[in-house]
Amino acid sequence: MRLKDKVAIITGGARGIGRAIALLFAQEGADIVVGDVNMQEAEKTCLEIRSLGRQALSMEMDVADYAKIEGALNKILDKLGKVDILVNNAGITKDNLLLRMSEAEWDAVLDVNLKGAFNCLKAVSRPMIKQRAGRIINIASIIGIIGNAGQANYSASKAGIIALTKTAAKELASRNINVNAVAPGFIQTEMTAKLPEDIQQKMKEMIPLGKFGSPEDVAKVCLFLASEEASYITGQTIVVDGGMVMA
Ligand code: NDP
Repeated sequence: MRLKDKVAIITGGARGIGRAIALLFAQEGADIVVGDVNMQEAEKTCLEIRSLGRQALSMEMDVADYAKIEGALNKILDKLGKVDILVNNAGITKDNLLLRMSEAEWDAVLDVNLKGAFNCLKAVSRPMIKQRAGRIINIASIIGIIGNAGQANYSASKAGIIALTKTAAKELASRNINVNAVAPGFIQTEMTAKLPEDIQQKMKEMIPLGKFGSPEDVAKVCLFLASEEASYITGQTIVVDGGMVMA
């Protein structure tokens, strides 16, 4: 029960890594807001959280739209009274080689992945500053550290997340708000499961631990960063990638 009675907002919490974070935080005693655009899946995740005995609120939150985020946050504060933890997890890809990448593909990915994290971080900082406590965890990616052909928009957005994490950590530290990032490598999701076996094998050969990570591997690091155990850590990016990227 490392998060007993805390309130956590998980953006993109309906499925994938966000869902795993939402469920683990609930198991550890937190009440959860699943902020997403996929309301059908968000409600399914909320049902699972309620079966663990915790409160769960599915909240329509297009992270790219600041006005909607402010509105959602006011509703959350009305219903649950506070926000202790924000996990900026919502993220999308629209891959293309540089010369073929359209302005729309660039803008869409930057709007959700980077502006979305800024919007949510800005909105929750106000109540967190008032309560003189908070934890913000941004989901980056190793692609934001090493780059990847075909992902100019995605890699720039994830590198931006890492820089945003450091600046927010410096600005909010005096108010007892810790801001950290988690940078996953290849995580076993619906997306990786669909890749042909030989491609999956080649990808695994690049990973020293020889396997993909699970959404739960990422969730466990988020839990650590949200818990008391990480109270002296801020502005850091923790890589969860089976050893692919070593500084
Ligand atoms: P998924 O696509 O499985 O889930 C993302 C969730 O976010 C979906 O429910 C999606 O809704 C929702 N979402 C999309 N756009 C928005 C928006 N504008 N506002 C709110 N919610 C939105 O993603 P993953 O679980 O794979 O990834 C989660 C995070 O982890 C992302 O930031 C990703 O970049 C990062 N990551 C993932 C890795 C991986 O291997 N999977 C590796 C490294 C980093 P919908 O269903 O409608 O799309």
